[in-house]
Amino acid sequence: MIEINNVSKWYGQFQVLTDCSARVAKGDVMVICGPSGSGKSTLIKTVNGLEPVQQGEIRVDGVKVNDKATDLSALRARIGMVFQNFELFPHLSVRDNLTLGQIKVLGRSREEAVARGLHYLERVGLLGQQDKFPSQLSGGQQQRVAIARALAMDPIAMLFDEPTSALDPEMINEVLDVMVGLAQDGMTMMVVTHEMGFARRVANRVLFMDQGRIVEDSSKEAFFAAPRSERAREFLTRII
Ligand code: ATP
Ligand code: MG
Repeated sequence: MIEINNVSKWYGQFQVLTDCSARVAKGDVMVICGPSGSGKSTLIKTVNGLEPVQQGEIRVDGVKVNDKATDLSALRARIGMVFQNFELFPHLSVRDNLTLGQIKVLGRSREEAVARGLHYLERVGLLGQQDKFPSQLSGGQQQRVAIARALAMDPIAMLFDEPTSALDPEMINEVLDVMVGLAQDGMTMMVVTHEMGFARRVANRVLFMDQGRIVEDSSKEAFFAAPRSERAREFLTRII
């Protein structure tokens, strides 16, 4: 479903990704962890073409992402992305946040968009909040709306970049629980997170990055039992 083949990327002179390769099959949940600045956000953004790469190849469902001929907005419409800082439209109600992309990008009727939006709002446990504005919701609630908004677009895969790291501790679990449910329903997911509890519950694979390289790509069991690299071992002892 998602193939990253020998990808390297530079920001100017600085090489941020070095020869990264990874594969995510349909229904896989891949957790990406590693120290700050190791290139996790950059890697995940290459998957939907938010960050271009200079070398290597990325394919999503067979479509080459880093190709001038590829319609990136069509591709992005099919891949849900949830960031650290919620990124809801502040001037729109929850209902309008949920429906805007469905109407503008997918061409759905307002009725259909509202129905689907409310379906996913219920799924994230927030039915009844549709008339509020983002500023009237807690961080955890905003993040759950962001997830519902992405799901309403019928994505083939979901990308998460530290979706809980800006949340107060008591709100982390409400977001993680939604993500666990998604994983259990078979959604294909790439998740940058340091929440190792989440990784233990639902990840198939754990990828560990250091200085722009994927230094470890292991099954969850192997990663937690005995990480291969010294850096990953150190990282785990600090984080758990
Ligand atoms: P964190 O855990 O702090 O989110 P990360 O693993 O997600 O870190 P990235 O955000 O991918 O790391 O950044 C990797 C490196 O690339 C860092 O050294 C960062 O300073 C650098 N970098 C990121 N974005 C840019 C940019 N637009 N221009 C130049 N350098 C950048
Ligand atoms: Mg990051």
